Amino acid sequence: MNRYRIMFGSSIVLIFAGILLAAFCFPKIGLLFFAGVLFTVAGLYLLGRWISKAYTYICMDCYLRIDVGALEGLFAVPVDKAYRRLYCPKCRRKTVCKARRISLRVHVF
Ligand SMILES: [Zn+2]
Repeated sequence: MNRYRIMFGSSIVLIFAGILLAAFCFPKIGLLFFAGVLFTVAGLYLLGRWISKAYTYICMDCYLRIDVGALEGLFAVPVDKAYRRLYCPKCRRKTVCKARRISLRVHVF
């Protein structure tokens, strides 16, 4: 069990717990509802951070390696299973990029 597994697992737990909490007290918008929304957002952010650490993307036009941030990792449009549409700074436009898993054991914060 390494810290990335924990990061991924806890982000999923946070998202689901947040949605459940928000849905549970939905008609009444109170403190608990906001806590649920906050949990979900925090979980999504953590998941984005995990994606940005766990994956790197290769531009298929110029073969530039692109490291995505948390938001890009979350909201980039998937094209195919292993491809996503990302902004390439070298091509200066959105290109199709291939995802590559980074070996996390050797990767240190
Ligand atoms: Zn490119």
